[in-house]
Amino acid sequence: MIKAVFFDLDDTLVETTKLADMARRNAVENMIRHGLPVDFETAYKELMELIKEYGSNFGKHFDYLLRRLDVPYDPKIVTAGVIAYHNTKFAYLKSVKGARKVLLDLKKEGYKLAIITDGDPLKQWEKILRLELDEFFDDVFISDYLGVRKPHPKIFEKALRRMGARPEESVMVGDRLYSDIYGAKRVGMHTIWFRYGKYANRELEYIDYADFQVRVLEDVVEIVRGLNREEAEERPDTEVHAD
Ligand SMILES: [Mg+2]
Repeated sequence: MIKAVFFDLDDTLVETTKLADMARRNAVENMIRHGLPVDFETAYKELMELIKEYGSNFGKHFDYLLRRLDVPYDPKIVTAGVIAYHNTKFAYLKSVKGARKVLLDLKKEGYKLAIITDGDPLKQWEKILRLELDEFFDDVFISDYLGVRKPHPKIFEKALRRMGARPEESVMVGDRLYSDIYGAKRVGMHTIWFRYGKYANRELEYIDYADFQVRVLEDVVEIVRGLNREEAEERPDTEVHAD
């Protein structure tokens, strides 16, 4: 019996990559509008390089962008970047197509639901609460709060324990073959790879760990139902043989 379904957050339930890219582009445009003496392509490329080096949760992207471009520090330009970045994030944050329907259907059918996500707890909760996704979930597991990241087995084991589900009674859904699918499969969970966004053709060396792959999130519901049906059909057989 499948008892619990676990979801990754970024680019599985929430459109993170598209939003971040739009926010960064708008930030650079607004910085230029307010005096950054560099063309868009140069500044954008430099910003992307900087994010790659320092990580997306680094707090001083726009200050460092000026340093890298040899532009003297100007609080007005930095503020222009910060404002455009946040305005874009607030205005365009949205869930992945079909996400709410999948969660609602699974919830109605009695499955326990949880999120297992990597990242900064405040930023992850901000996305969950702004989109009012919290009402669907029995629990939320965020790596930077728990002290262990996907794909380490410990984060999945902690989540399973707290949800009171065995690995074989659980399904993990995520867009990353490495952190979501490989991680969950190693502890014995069923896995559904959501082949979506920038990881749709990456980390393919881990593809054998995916039990299923979907390109549309809504298909998850039918797969979970199917896993339950399969088990229901298998059980009487086992009893007949035992007799
Ligand atoms: Mg993800």
